[in-house]
Amino acid sequence: MAWIGASKVSAGCVFCKAHESRDDRATYLVERSDDAFLILNAYPYASGHLMAVVNRHVGTLGGARTAELADMMRLVQRAIDALTAEYRAEGFNVGLNQGRAAGAGIEDHLHMHVVPRWNGDSNFVSVLGDTRVLPETLETTWERLRGRLSG
Ligand SMILES: [Zn+2]
Repeated sequence: MAWIGASKVSAGCVFCKAHESRDDRATYLVERSDDAFLILNAYPYASGHLMAVVNRHVGTLGGARTAELADMMRLVQRAIDALTAEYRAEGFNVGLNQGRAAGAGIEDHLHMHVVPRWNGDSNFVSVLGDTRVLPETLETTWERLRGRLSG
């Protein structure tokens, strides 16, 4: 069986759906690149919690191409720049969970979390933690970061 083009899409996958959709406002996608994209986490640990996601439906670092990993990391850099400028973030938790055993919520589609931090922010909230703080709506966060990144 031949794949059409380079991208393999999984119908039930929220990241594939967001990538295929043209409505970035509805999916909270903030930036598109050749091999990866940036999207808001719908269940953020802090306002501005972003995910850098490879375009292709691939679930492991070993299964990803070097160009995809490079583009994902480049978007992590851009996320950090945007969050520093827009939210005056002072630190970042950047992390990747591969596999359900490691805590991946969406285990079949590779993504890196970028969580902004501030000196003295509430309690210790890690990528693996369970505390969620929501001082603004996802719509507002999308407007602010979209303006910084794709605007
Ligand atoms: Zn997918």
